[in-house]
Amino acid sequence: MNQPPTHCPYCGSSVDPAETDEPRIVETPMVYRCESCEDYVFYNPTPGGSAIVLDGDAICLVEDFRSPDEWKLPSGRMLLGESPREGVARELEEETGLSVDPADLVYVTDEAGEPVPEQYMVGIDYAVARSQTTGSLAAGSDATDAKFFTPSEFEASPHAIKHTHVDRFGTDSLPWLLDEARAALERAGEPV
Ligand SMILES: [Zn+2]
Repeated sequence: MNQPPTHCPYCGSSVDPAETDEPRIVETPMVYRCESCEDYVFYNPTPGGSAIVLDGDAICLVEDFRSPDEWKLPSGRMLLGESPREGVARELEEETGLSVDPADLVYVTDEAGEPVPEQYMVGIDYAVARSQTTGSLAAGSDATDAKFFTPSEFEASPHAIKHTHVDRFGTDSLPWLLDEARAALERAGEPV
């Protein structure tokens, strides 16, 4: 799980250090050990990822229903059994209506963070040219809007980049994201 465990998922016993006699934490603060069944309980990050879809100098962003007026890359968590590319392709389609073959997603970067205190995530971020996608842009799932913005269009808009997105990438710079994505696509010999 990606937040401090209170119970063993195998037998249900408490692994909360405050409720147990012996030290429970094997490796601070990531591995706990259940006093009853002796199994290990991991406190580790949840994997997620983003799609950077480029259309010329424009990047596809979505507005998150949780924070109106804050925009981010189409992104989300992997589901059971999904590879990172498969998860990102599904999230892209759910949030924007754009479909992509997961194999066409090109690795750009990865990051680790704590979007909510004590809840850890890792992200793997991929780029693809809009010409490699099919479908028409239409916000869906937990996105209330989806649009392509050039950096100057976004700058001129009343919108902001979502704070969790800024935490993940360490910047709210769309030109930076555009450059990173374009360089990754060029390196991979993929259409830009
Ligand atoms: Zn147990």
